[in-house]
Amino acid sequence: MDLDKLNKILKKEPAYRLKQAYAFIFKDLVDNWDKATNLPSDLRQKLNKEFSLNIKAKVLEAKTKESQKALLTLSDGSKIETVLLRHEDGRNTVCVSSQVGCPLGCLFCATGKMEFARNLEIWEILMQVLFFARDLKKKGERVSNLVFMGMGEPFLNYDNVMSAIKILNDKDSLNIGARHISISTIGITEGIKKLASQSLQINLAISLHAPNNELRVKIVPMNQNYPIESILKIVDFYIKETNRQVMFEYLMINDFNDSENEAYELVDLLKNLKKSLFVINLIAYNPTQGFKASPTSKIKRFKEILIKSKIKVTERYRFGQDIKAACGQLAGEECNI
Ligand code: SAH
Ligand code: SF4
Repeated sequence: MDLDKLNKILKKEPAYRLKQAYAFIFKDLVDNWDKATNLPSDLRQKLNKEFSLNIKAKVLEAKTKESQKALLTLSDGSKIETVLLRHEDGRNTVCVSSQVGCPLGCLFCATGKMEFARNLEIWEILMQVLFFARDLKKKGERVSNLVFMGMGEPFLNYDNVMSAIKILNDKDSLNIGARHISISTIGITEGIKKLASQSLQINLAISLHAPNNELRVKIVPMNQNYPIESILKIVDFYIKETNRQVMFEYLMINDFNDSENEAYELVDLLKNLKKSLFVINLIAYNPTQGFKASPTSKIKRFKEILIKSKIKVTERYRFGQDIKAACGQLAGEECNI
């Protein structure tokens, strides 16, 4: 199912109907056309039959209620996961999937272990956000941030991801600020280049995870086609073009990429990029695929080396470990509540 279907159904109606329908879906966040009271009842019935707003999902909540994971079943039976992260400062971030599985097969990644099925349609991307937005609305809250760090590689589904973002960003829709939307990529250079010419001020994150090709290719097979130099070249272009800060994500995997030497190598690797325009995000690895997480002492040392070299560093807080809801750790598993 896709939004095209909705457009098609409403094509025969007066032009303002489409606008009304979008407002019901994305502003009023209705889950049934019966609640769209100013639409004629025969149209409501038709829409309920042909463009149902019902989202089939199972929810799993972390013990601390800081995060929720939803397993959504799509109309063809495919299953995808999406996560809501509730921050103490009131922000609500939805971690969005862009594909069913991922064809890139990174060795540390739960999604990469799944069989890749297909790209998500625009509506299927939107559904994930709507699902949590509807629930939050009941509590007087809203979705404030989005990260494309769920299942799949967003830049392999560039057009649908961007179309969904445009709708979510629209002030007549969910009105999620572009600066509050981030796309994470393993380094698909064509996507980075396209994003550089987009007028939307969304954030870019690059999953780097290693300071050299030899190491990176062991966990990111795609590095063979997109070696680090090619990614950095295009990131440099992106920075110059947009003047926006880029984030490099670096998973801290014990005895793999977390030594002092590797920290120095990373500093050296990034020496030609403007320091004020990138930040390294050290991510505590959620052990899922036989790799182990670095101990805190090693993360601390690694961080110190970067800071001494005047590189900006952040650390990603572990969210929802008990429900395997860390972003990028999704595998469309059945939720066993
Ligand atoms: N395909 C994109 C987006 C999805 S992954 C990409 O790779 O960037 C989003 C983030 O979650 C990536 O930085 C990824 O490396 C990270 N991630 C994957 N598995 C993880 C795990 N087990 N623990 C912590 N982060 C993980
Ligand atoms: Fe795909 Fe990203 Fe997982 Fe790699 S880390 S397999 S690119 S989802």
